[in-house]
This record gives sequence, C-alpha cells and structure tokens, in this order.
Amino acid sequence: MKTIKTVKELREYRKTFDGKGVSIGFVPTMGYLHDGHMALVDASVKANDITFVSIFVNPTQFAPNEDLESYPRDLDRDLKLCEEHGVDCVFTPDPDEMYQNQKTYVTIEDLGAHLCGKSRPTHFRGVLTVLTKLFHFTRPDRAYFGKKDAQQYFIVKKGMKDLNFDLEICPVDTVREADGLATSSRNVYLSEEERKAAPIIHQALEHGEASIVKGMKAQDLIDQITKEIESEPLAKIDYVSVVDQEDLAPVEVIDGPVLVAVAVFFGKTRLLDNFFYGE
Ligand code: AMP
Repeated sequence: MKTIKTVKELREYRKTFDGKGVSIGFVPTMGYLHDGHMALVDASVKANDITFVSIFVNPTQFAPNEDLESYPRDLDRDLKLCEEHGVDCVFTPDPDEMYQNQKTYVTIEDLGAHLCGKSRPTHFRGVLTVLTKLFHFTRPDRAYFGKKDAQQYFIVKKGMKDLNFDLEICPVDTVREADGLATSSRNVYLSEEERKAAPIIHQALEHGEASIVKGMKAQDLIDQITKEIESEPLAKIDYVSVVDQEDLAPVEVIDGPVLVAVAVFFGKTRLLDNFFYGE
C-alpha cells in the first residue's frame, strides 16, 4: 500500500493507471477509522480494481468554535486498517498542502440550508470544496459516502452532478454498534454515562419508522421522536426533521421519499442519525 502526502505525488501515481482500463474507487475520510469507514472501504475494494482513501481533517468544514483541534487522530492505526482491508493508496496531506491562501470555494444553494446547515452554515461549503480538490487528484469512477451523514450524501450527489463530474456517488448503509448507536469518530468524546444513554437516538428512530404511514403529518412523527429522545435527560435535541429527498426541504405530509434525520447533543458531542423512508 502506498502512502502519499503531496498533491504532486498523488497526481503522478494516479496517472500510472491511465489507459490501463482499471476502475478507481475513492473513500474520503477524516480518519480515526472505525467499522463505518471500513464498510465504505470494503464496498470500494469489492467493486473497483484500485481503491484510494484520503485521511484529512479538513479545516474548511469546521467553524471556529468547533472541534478541529481536538478531533481524534491515529494515523498509524488507520494505515494498518487500510492495508488489512486491501486499500491501494492512502492520501494523507498536511493542511498547507491542501490550502494556501484559498479564495475559491464550492457552494450549493438550498440543500445546505436545512438540517445541519442551520447550526453549521459554512460546513457544506468546506465539504464540497475539499471533495472537488480530492476528486481532481484521484479522478475516481466511484466515490463512497455513508448514509449516516445523509445530508452530505445528497449534497455531494447533487453538487457533483451539477458540476458534471464524471463519477458515481455510492451510498453505504449506516454501521452501528451492538446497541444500535451509529459508529462515529466522535463517539470517543462521550462520557461513560452519555455513551450508555446515546442509543436512545436509534431506538426513537426505529419506533418512528415503525409508526410511519403514508399520508401522515410530518409534525406528528417529529413530536413522537422528540418525546422519546427527550425522555433521556442527557440528550439535548438540535433538530428532528422530516425532509424531501430531492431538495432536503421540510415536508408537511409524508407522501413521497423522505429523510427523517436527527442531531442530538450529549454534553458537547453532537451525534447524527437518520432513516430513509419510501426510497
Ligand atoms: P468522516 O471521517 O466522519 O468524515 O466520515 C467519512 C465517511 O464515512 C463519510 O462518508 C461518512 O458518512 C462515513 N461514515 C461515518 N460513520 C459511518 C457509519 N457509522 N456508517 C456508515 N458510514 C459512515
């Protein structure tokens, strides 16, 4: 497995596959890899001849008050995991390699306004900007994204379609711990008590999913999920939303494909989860 730190070397390595008829898969990550990331890697290794992974804690998707500095990192362990799972190349640049006095950003209208966009207004601009760069360097046929970060998946899919990137954006189902909590690099921030309480998110969503019927009012579902999550005193809801899968705008009545998504604080740790209905 190759480990590359510079854009120049990555572009040169990528060129060695040109004209060889090989398919390229790409999994962008911020590292501190867990089973959720590795499900994306496994999907890529299975479907493609060559798999690139990037490990980069991207500063432009963090607001000044967020956890950029404290974001968990363990590169040695990450590289070992990638090697074990059959990755061909890991790109792990320093921030200076990716950004030098950056003045150009990629933004999307509307889709970034709801859900996480409300409390993280510059987040998706950072995501789309870094992915645009990474897609130029790796030129993948397929790139893999977790459905846990559903808004990110929809935004990347629409953004890359709008910009005519010639690649397929492939969604991968959410991987969970045994008690239902979605695996996340940020789960390490949880105290023992918070960790014990956090599976309430998935439980509330499961009960919500079981009680959906076509034609029901979205607000009734939101109220039900909110009530169950709030039964856990350590949980502080950021949002519980039911949005259309096309434009990610809130719906009033559930009669087409929707995303039911939540963000919940446990202490300072903000956890995301969701389910897709009527796909
Ligand atoms: P991150 O390192 O948090 O930026 O995540 C990198 C990719 O892994 C994103 O596409 C995430 O959606 C995906 N991912 C993170 N956690 C999970 C999970 N529990 N199940 C599936 N995919 C995940």
